[in-house]
Amino acid sequence: AAEMFYDDDADLSLIQGRKVAVIGYGSQGHAHALNLRDSGVDVRVGLAEGSKSRAKAEAEGLRVLTVAEAVKEADVVVILTPDQVQRTVYAEEIQPNLNEGTALVFGHGFNIRFGYILPEAGSDVLMVAPKGPGHLVRREYTDGRGVPVIVAVEQDPSGQAWDLAKSYAKAIGGLRAGGIKTTFTEETETDLFGEQAVLCGGASQLVMYGFETLTEAGYQPEVAYFECLHELKLIVDLMIEGGIAKQRWSISDTAEFGDYVSGPRVISPEVKDNMKAVLADIQDGTFAKRFIDDQDAGAPEFKRLREQGAQHPIEATGRKLRGLMSWVKDTDSDYVEGSAA
Ligand code: NDP
Ligand code: MG
Ligand code: MG
Repeated sequence: AAEMFYDDDADLSLIQGRKVAVIGYGSQGHAHALNLRDSGVDVRVGLAEGSKSRAKAEAEGLRVLTVAEAVKEADVVVILTPDQVQRTVYAEEIQPNLNEGTALVFGHGFNIRFGYILPEAGSDVLMVAPKGPGHLVRREYTDGRGVPVIVAVEQDPSGQAWDLAKSYAKAIGGLRAGGIKTTFTEETETDLFGEQAVLCGGASQLVMYGFETLTEAGYQPEVAYFECLHELKLIVDLMIEGGIAKQRWSISDTAEFGDYVSGPRVISPEVKDNMKAVLADIQDGTFAKRFIDDQDAGAPEFKRLREQGAQHPIEATGRKLRGLMSWVKDTDSDYVEGSAA
């Protein structure tokens, strides 16, 4: 069984005794920096000169420095820039300014797992990866709850990396919900698989195919939107509360019978073969290389796919309907409706 940690298993004073530099102030960076600060940790934020995030961090009363300055002051450096820029930021600004024995903390194992960052032998290398989007990591913390985390240690020259990782996980609120011991390899491969096959890729494509099938058959797009997208949250909430079983308990017998007979027809066994192929591309680095090579070339494939996604008719229908449902409001203040960026 997985090894789990909760608040009582961690000593908050370890991270409270360190000088922490959070590099990047985006989805995860703002949440880690603010939760650490509110847990009594000495935090500074490292950003590039002229960063768009600087004003937001300063408005929260955080000290903002350049990445180099923040790293020079720190004995714990948390790398929360986008994955595709981490290796350059590490090589140019973090590594040359590291103090002896500074620990590196990651929120996702991508750059370590695929060898884009090769840390010094003297650095503790840890990961505290929240299993939820950054805006929830902050919101749950301020509400007295937490987003679960998975925790790993790749290098432990100090012999203290695990204690520090648990202390860090507690400080961001993760151990209120629970931490699971993992490895960089397991976290990276399962995280990429989950987001590609099920949570993001699989769910998005399922919703779009459902919407297309109904609208191509002549049904109204507004009805198709409610059926295939809006209700999904209500169904997923039931799954979170009580598993697939509770979802099946709540729905009508008609819906439950349809679930059994049509679910495996839509998501047929070939879909599982496709999932295995996706996993193989993750494990052998094919996906990582495709992503990083495209990013290095200015992201032409990424930009084209993002544009194509935004043009799908379900988006225009959704914008109109959400405008009429005052309670479905966007609480993430920096999200711009109609832009994936
Ligand atoms: P974001 O895209 O939200 O990070 C953007 C932040 O990084 C901004 O503050 C940006 O500054 C800054 N930044 C970008 N480039 C640089 C640079 N060259 N030097 C310094 N700062 C830079 O990242 P995420 O929060 O999505 O991801 C961070 C890490 O967390 C990744 O490893 C990701 O896999 C992991 N993770 C993310 C999750 C999420 O919810 N998004 C969930 C779990 C893990 P500016 O404003 O100037 O652009
Ligand atoms: Mg991910
Ligand atoms: Mg129904």
